[in-house]
Amino acid sequence: MSIYDKYETIIGLEVHTQLLTKSKAYSNDAAEYGALPNTLVSPVTLGHPGTLPRANKRVIEFGVRLGLALQCTIRERNEYARKNYFYADLPKGYQITQDKTPICTNGLVVIKDDNGNDKTIRIQRIHMEEDAGKSIHDQDPTDTLVDLNRAGVPLLEIVTEPDIRSADEAYRYLTEIRKLVRYLDICDGNMEEGSLRCDANISVRLKGDEKFGRRVEVKNMNSISNVKRAIEHEITRLVDIVDAGGTVDQETRSFEALTGTTFSLRSKEAANDYRYFPEPDLLPVIVSQQYVEEVRKKMPPLPHELFRKYTDALGLSGYDAGVLTDTKEVALYFEDVLHHSKNAKAAANWVMGPVKSFLNERALHVSQFPVSAERLAALIDLVEGNKVSFAMAAQRIFPALIESPAKTPLQLAEEMNLVQESNEDALLDLIRQAVAKYPEKVTEYRAGKKGVHGLFMGEVMKLSKGKADPKIANQLLTKVLDEQ
Ligand code: ADP
Ligand code: MG
Repeated sequence: MSIYDKYETIIGLEVHTQLLTKSKAYSNDAAEYGALPNTLVSPVTLGHPGTLPRANKRVIEFGVRLGLALQCTIRERNEYARKNYFYADLPKGYQITQDKTPICTNGLVVIKDDNGNDKTIRIQRIHMEEDAGKSIHDQDPTDTLVDLNRAGVPLLEIVTEPDIRSADEAYRYLTEIRKLVRYLDICDGNMEEGSLRCDANISVRLKGDEKFGRRVEVKNMNSISNVKRAIEHEITRLVDIVDAGGTVDQETRSFEALTGTTFSLRSKEAANDYRYFPEPDLLPVIVSQQYVEEVRKKMPPLPHELFRKYTDALGLSGYDAGVLTDTKEVALYFEDVLHHSKNAKAAANWVMGPVKSFLNERALHVSQFPVSAERLAALIDLVEGNKVSFAMAAQRIFPALIESPAKTPLQLAEEMNLVQESNEDALLDLIRQAVAKYPEKVTEYRAGKKGVHGLFMGEVMKLSKGKADPKIANQLLTKVLDEQ
């Protein structure tokens, strides 16, 4: 047994989601990404004397939306607080946040644990705050540059209880949170651009111990895989320290993607005393029960709800349901197909197969897919009703439909002469021709050589120019051959 097997990892994640509002949290500066540096900065954002902040209502709406999606308790009376510290990218000298009255508390997210079982990660709190500006260390050889466009951009910070037990669980939790904020249209979830950021708190303890070990906090991971790498690195580092009898420094560390390692940024012993106090320039915001209900009515479908519907009600596999709910756009398209066709399983296969391949090959988004859900459903129903074969539908009609999305699949099938012959009389006629052509094979068949059945089917398909409904033709052929 290696020393690592003796220890258990405890992880709590803090996720900052940058909100997709038009303006900043407490001023009407635009909250845009990618504008020229320092062009979206008014005196309110800078906290100049005489300016007054005003709370952006959308931030509250987004907070309630997220809280409902995570099954949180939503707070009625929301107070704002000042968190004071000095930093070059924080010209006001304080950040407006929520201290003792976070807008949401006691939520949960269900993920899979490392054995594939459902596991609940409790959400401790979600609070509203504003972002700081951005220090840029890598664009000037000697100086650090500061861009204040980000200062004051609204954030929701989601803090878990220390319920996560492995790097893989952290990976799945973050994947779920990112999917959720995208479904909710509150954050674009882009970790590379920093609109979703994660700080990981990690500690280790001997298996069976009650008490948590001393934790470290790791920052600066710009992808979900890097969060996983950072945690894996820290687990090894912490176990090595503890198992050698050392003590862990409670500190904040930074992840370096190139090497997959972390280095110390600052010690928590000298932890900032933020001197939180109530923000004197903002009145508390009251979130009434009635308001919460209004937001609830406008909630989009949520990925885990759709997942359950697809597996439980439609009988799809967990894998299929996962693929279909991975992004909201695909899920909503699939929902729309289901609205027009009763063949759920076939619809799932079509969306995951031909539709997704078409989009992937051309790097297109579902919104750019020319075929409406209604038309796709009609094509699916043609196949399910044995009007056209799946092969012809997928290889010929589907591409034609993409070229001419205004036409119905039936129109196209007729134009291309692909409607299957399922008329029994017509098929019987072809079958009798095929059988008459090889009388000696009929004798062989009747003597027990059932393999020649395939030869007759091939002949029937040829005579029908590939349009015979194979299922019906097959049954009729057997009947004819078995006739004495
Ligand atoms: P801070 O604001 O100083 O970072 P918090 O109490 O808000 O401290 O905790 C932040 C995160 O750390 C939470 O997600 C929490 O679950 C997690 N956490 C707390 N104690 C531990 C621990 N011993 N090991 C791992 N994570 C922890
Ligand atoms: Mg923290």
